[in-house]
Amino acid sequence: MRRLFVAGNWKMNTTMASAQALASEVAAEVARSQPNVDVAVCPPFPYLIPVGISLANSPVMLGGQNAHYEKPGAFTGETSLEMLVDVGCRLVVIGHSERRQFFGETDELVNKKIHAAWQRGLDVIFCIGEVLQDREANRTESVLSTQLQGGLAGVEAAQLGKLVIAYEPVWAIGTGLTASPEQAEATHLFVRNWLATRFDRASADAMRIQYGGSVKADNAKELLSQPNVDGALVGGASLKSDQFLGIIRAAAELSAG
Ligand code: PEP
Repeated sequence: MRRLFVAGNWKMNTTMASAQALASEVAAEVARSQPNVDVAVCPPFPYLIPVGISLANSPVMLGGQNAHYEKPGAFTGETSLEMLVDVGCRLVVIGHSERRQFFGETDELVNKKIHAAWQRGLDVIFCIGEVLQDREANRTESVLSTQLQGGLAGVEAAQLGKLVIAYEPVWAIGTGLTASPEQAEATHLFVRNWLATRFDRASADAMRIQYGGSVKADNAKELLSQPNVDGALVGGASLKSDQFLGIIRAAAELSAG
């Protein structure tokens, strides 16, 4: 069985004090309950260091929400992958729909970032997802194929161990709308079969595909119990420790059988 992976994307939220408090609460509960799942939090850049301190000696991983693919240099306003590694990040989220929608990130740029992150030793959560018009026009699979094809250009099967895919229907992000467990499962199965065709069946079966889009403590179990849903990328609910810990608990219960 694939190990479930719950990651919190804090986006452009929290203050230094609330970020540290949230991280400490998550770390303390994970230390106490020792869930048999992977857990990560991705705070805003200025809070990576204090959150890293709050997570010291905790299995909760620290992640970045984005980074530039270039080496450190004259790129005003950007954050390098080297910097993420330097402050203790183990992973980075790449291709989030808000990066694509508001900052013009293309599949080509996403692809450069994925390769660059691996060169620096980071794991990658690679986000894909369709907008509402695509789903309504039955274009979900072709949109996802294009994002996968472009984002994973030049990738070899041996590199997939450092990759997690997050399927996040854009219409379900921050809207309170959630894909039904059946919709999520069908789309995750499509993604896994796409990976099997592009790479090979064993690699595809080993890959974790997270679901993201209004996951909360009270809908997590149903979503995570789907055979091809291997975790959650959580936005809004990751900002409240009781919600986020409830999602981790749901994952832990499923892992325990
Ligand atoms: C996200 O931004 O990755 C996300 C899934 O957000 P939310 O959980 O708030 O829908």
